[in-house]
Amino acid sequence: MSSEIEREIAERRAGVLARIAKAAKSAERSPDDVTLIAVSKVQPDERVDAMLAAGQRVFGENRVQEAQQRWTERKRSDGGIELRLIGPLQSNKSRDAVALFDVIETLDREKLARTLADAIQAEGRAPGIFVQVNTGEEDQKAGIAPLETDAFIAKVRNEYGIEPEGLMCIPPVDEPAGLHFALLAKIAARNGLRKLSMGMSADFESAIRFGATHVRVGTELFGARA
Ligand SMILES: *Cc1c(COP(=O)(O)O)cnc(C)c1O
Repeated sequence: MSSEIEREIAERRAGVLARIAKAAKSAERSPDDVTLIAVSKVQPDERVDAMLAAGQRVFGENRVQEAQQRWTERKRSDGGIELRLIGPLQSNKSRDAVALFDVIETLDREKLARTLADAIQAEGRAPGIFVQVNTGEEDQKAGIAPLETDAFIAKVRNEYGIEPEGLMCIPPVDEPAGLHFALLAKIAARNGLRKLSMGMSADFESAIRFGATHVRVGTELFGARA
C-alpha cells in the first residue's frame, strides 16, 4: 500500500468525520450518534486497506459476491469490522448474506423475510435488519412503499420473528432529499424504530439534520468509483 494513498484516504476520512460532527452539533445531536458507513463497493483493495489503516471499521457493500471476495478473509483477521449490505438481496443468496454480513439494510419483501428467517435459523447467526422504504415510490427502486411499511413491519415481527432495528432509504436523485429523510424518520418513529440509514455523499449533512443514525458515504471518502 503506497503511503500516498494512505495519506489521501486518511485525509478524506478525517474531512468527512469533521463534516459529520459539525452537522450533528448544529442539529444539537451528539456526533457519536451518527455512524459513518464507508461504502467500499467497486473500490480497489488498496484504497479499502488504506481506509482500514485509517481506523475505519464500518463498511457497506451492495453485492453479496463482491463482498464475500473482499471481506471474508479481512473479517477473519479483524474481528472489529462491521459489514453492512446496502444493495438489493436475492432471496436465494439469503444464507450467504446472513453468514457474512453483520447488518442487512435492504429487507423489502415478504419472501425475503421468510428466506432470511430460515437462514438465521440455519446459520445460528442473526444480523441486524433494516427495512428499505421506497420513499419516492420509484418503479426502478427497491423498497416497500411508504403506505405499506407499517403493515410490513408488523408482519416481519409477528410472522417471521424478525425485529428490525431501523429503516433505510435512497431518495430520488432529482428531488430535494430532505422530504424523503423526514418521511423515513416519521415512519420509523411511529413504528418504534430507532435507527435511520439515510444520506450519501451529496446529502449526508441534510440526513443528519433529519435524524440519520447511519450515513452511507462512498465517493467523498474513497474518491470516484471506476
Ligand atoms: C453506492 C451507494 C452509496 C454511496 O454513494 P456515494 O454517492 O458514492 O456516497 C450509498 N448507498 C447506497 C445504497 C449505495 O448503493
